[in-house]
Amino acid sequence: MGLGSSRMESGSPLDPDSNYTSIRVDDSDEEISDRLVCPICFTNAKDLAFGCGHLTCQDCGARLSDCPICRQPIEIRIRVFIE
Ligand SMILES: [Zn+2]
Ligand SMILES: [Zn+2]
Repeated sequence: MGLGSSRMESGSPLDPDSNYTSIRVDDSDEEISDRLVCPICFTNAKDLAFGCGHLTCQDCGARLSDCPICRQPIEIRIRVFIE
């Protein structure tokens, strides 16, 4: 029995402070995305504009035949890129 493997692994303790930081970042992010979120599903970002100027996400916009905000018939759909 000569398998004398005596390795001491020094475990790094978890930092509870790092958890706190991610919560604060999440909170401020919500405030910004609230203005950019689709008014129909409240899930996706607005990335589709209609001829009237209103915006929804692509998922909702594809199913609509008229604008849910001003009820104008949708004749054109424009892809919007928000950075
Ligand atoms: Zn949507
Ligand atoms: Zn509209």
